[in-house]
Amino acid sequence: MSELASYAVTDACSRGRRVAEPPPRTRSEFQRDRDRIVHSTAFRRLEYKTQVFVNHEGDLFRTRLTHSIEVAQIARSIARALHLNDDLAEAISLAHDLGHTPFGHAGQDALNECMQGHGGFEHNLQSLRIVELLEQRYGAFDGLNLMFETRAGILKHCSPARARTLGDLGQRFLDDRRPSLEAQICNLADEVAYNNHDVDDGLRSGLITLGQLQEVDLFSRHLAEVDLKFPQLAGRRRVHETIRRVIDAQVTDLLAETTRRIAKAAPQTLAEVHEAPSLVGFSEAMHQENQALKRFLREKLYRHYQVVRMTSKARRIISELFSAFMAEPRLLPPQYQDMAAAESLARAAADYIAGMTDRYAIKEYRRLFAIGEM
Ligand code: MG
Repeated sequence: MSELASYAVTDACSRGRRVAEPPPRTRSEFQRDRDRIVHSTAFRRLEYKTQVFVNHEGDLFRTRLTHSIEVAQIARSIARALHLNDDLAEAISLAHDLGHTPFGHAGQDALNECMQGHGGFEHNLQSLRIVELLEQRYGAFDGLNLMFETRAGILKHCSPARARTLGDLGQRFLDDRRPSLEAQICNLADEVAYNNHDVDDGLRSGLITLGQLQEVDLFSRHLAEVDLKFPQLAGRRRVHETIRRVIDAQVTDLLAETTRRIAKAAPQTLAEVHEAPSLVGFSEAMHQENQALKRFLREKLYRHYQVVRMTSKARRIISELFSAFMAEPRLLPPQYQDMAAAESLARAAADYIAGMTDRYAIKEYRRLFAIGEM
């Protein structure tokens, strides 16, 4: 690792782990966090959870696992270029979506509706709950006992009411302080990754077309560049050449703008980063172009009738599973019945449902509701 900036998160300036452990012999503390995340059960399940498309719709679409790896790649590159802790950026990126329900945002919205009156459901808080409690792998502690800064990075947003229940970790939301630059990078890397891969998957699925994308300046500008340089190029290669340029343009813009903001705020320490305004960001021009791309995806892809049919089915599966467990707690597997006794039935049902993969949720729905399936 190159020399880190004085305001980067380091092992030495970290607030450490909840349960003290001897320092790792051959890795940094944040590499250890990354490794624990990769070995977790929730991480493996990301392979069978989706963002936009349901897992079994096609083998070529992104899953939450490949999404998380793409986020980690982008975040690491940015962190390294800015002399920040790329191990921390990688750990946060790989963990950021652990708490997602099956069926993407439709699943989360449905579960959140079910959990009204029971504390709600938010995937970002669920990611934290997984690494702090639900992963049961180590003798000395529940969860993964990650470093404070990794957990703080996972907790991207949070309501003031909820922040009050989260102790040290929630305090920054009450004090209006920013997270580490590494965490700020992961937020933007997440956006760069999903906007671009949703364009790619959208085109691959045929739900959106290159013709429609002409209205998105950020895309059409780079497509024109590709056509000029490679007039013979067609099909997937033409799309890839365009998307790699869009990603590069966004990362290059982000590096330039962030460097400018850091120079202006001139933080010397991590504490000064917390007090400064958000330092990681796009220029105003790129921000506008990125918003236009997001608007396009919302209207043309996420609200495409074929996607809506899938998400409406997903909502039904999630809410009917939840109602069944609430009405008859003994339908829950034993460890979730124990959790219901320890915490609440609703939270245990939510943990169980949120942990399901797309496929498992469909199977469980059939098991509970289809006559003739046991
Ligand atoms: Mg994400």
